[in-house]
Amino acid sequence: MSYIDKIIAQIEKKDAGQPEFIQASKEVLESLRIIVDKDSIYEKAGLLERLIEPERLIVFRVPWVDDAGNVHVNRAYRVQYNSAIGPYKGGIRFHPSVNQSIIKFLGFEQTLKNALTGLPMGGGKGGCDFDPKGKTENEVMRFCQSFMTELYRHIGPDTDVPAGDIGVGAREVGFMYGQYKRIVNNFTGVFTGKGLTWGGSLGRTEATGYGLVYIVNEYLKGKDDGFKGKKVVISGSGNVAIFAAQKAISLGATVISMSDSNGFIFHKDGINLDSIKEVKLVKRERLTKYAELHKDAVYTEASKGRVWDIACDIALPCATQNELFIDDAKSLVKNGCKIVGEGANMPTTMDATDHLLQNNVAFFPGKAANAGGVSTSGLEMSQNSTRISWSFDEVDSKLKTIMAGIFNSIDSAAKEYGKPGNFVLGANLAGFKKVAKAMMDQGVI
Ligand code: NDP
Repeated sequence: MSYIDKIIAQIEKKDAGQPEFIQASKEVLESLRIIVDKDSIYEKAGLLERLIEPERLIVFRVPWVDDAGNVHVNRAYRVQYNSAIGPYKGGIRFHPSVNQSIIKFLGFEQTLKNALTGLPMGGGKGGCDFDPKGKTENEVMRFCQSFMTELYRHIGPDTDVPAGDIGVGAREVGFMYGQYKRIVNNFTGVFTGKGLTWGGSLGRTEATGYGLVYIVNEYLKGKDDGFKGKKVVISGSGNVAIFAAQKAISLGATVISMSDSNGFIFHKDGINLDSIKEVKLVKRERLTKYAELHKDAVYTEASKGRVWDIACDIALPCATQNELFIDDAKSLVKNGCKIVGEGANMPTTMDATDHLLQNNVAFFPGKAANAGGVSTSGLEMSQNSTRISWSFDEVDSKLKTIMAGIFNSIDSAAKEYGKPGNFVLGANLAGFKKVAKAMMDQGVI
């Protein structure tokens, strides 16, 4: 049995109840055969066993009191996955689906993603099975304060620097950071995604969505092409989706569809982004509201149709993990889609990814395509450490350079290992090589 097969068997046995973690780690391990099976140095160093096992996994309870005086207890996690190339870095997710498997898969992916950015950041991730939807502002604040009352002892500007993710935006980061500062009596850059008046970076809000469009654009530029005139379908209507739409539109594309967890809108002549922002970011309402405001937009409930059935040139899944399945991939191919870029983490299942690759769809995996967010978080950390603030244009131009660098490194790795255009392989290999080298240099720790 090869080293890789041994590790996969070990994960399937030891982590049997963790489907998302098995899915993410298997996808990476399969790509690594090309390097690891050829060189016994990795097995001798127990490199994969160490890469796959988080350095630390913290599980804690979050008790809080709702407005009516009822006590609730949620379960929270912080996984400090790998610190070989820098302090742990990765977002915090508040969603009822959060569990150990999801947090581990996200932390593992984050380790390789952060390596791809070229910035000195290790991998981490956190979250809680708390649902901010339908909670009052005061309930969200009390919850965030309770969450941080435990988390504060595990993080620090040179130890572990969290950020937002699903269900954690500027509001939640503010409540958590405020509580952290109150407890430790120290104003440091321990969080990214902070408000602009208290240490945040211009461009961080837009970074993940913009970065996604930049990396796809880099690929298109190599083909003397661009977003101009392209029809784009985007899933989700949160932070990543909205700013991906904004950048795609500014480059001349027409975004014809967006979704939320209840359904999707199809707006043939192009969605009105100001309206989407008002509905989702300001009023925190459902997309049905958008359809009420725009009579020529068609709304379809999630149970009655798939956003991926809409014909498009470029599809950008930006909602959540496992939201683009094999039948969706077949539909996209059949309808002429040429590019899929993952704004979300692992939105595409493995068989769907394979189908897209086999049909020559340029597929950009999340660990490369959505790395713009954490890259700009890295830039926020640099600004905090040096106590300066860069302009939006300075940050945006650094982001563009980073995304172009990521494209070049995944493109070159895919070519070097004989699979040109396979950016899944390219991203896994380029990220792995960097983390593995740092781990080897630092001995068995
Ligand atoms: P948000 O909470 O801002 O938005 C998430 C969006 O996805 C919402 O529109 C939400 O709909 C929708 N959604 C969530 N769960 C489901 C589901 N099960 N089915 C369908 N739609 C769903 O999160 P972000 O935009 O920040 O994150 C989206 C993805 O991008 C995640 O995978 C995240 O890990 C990844 N990511 C985020 C980064 C960032 O900087 N924010 C950085 C890198 C990756 P509804 O409104 O109904 O809840």
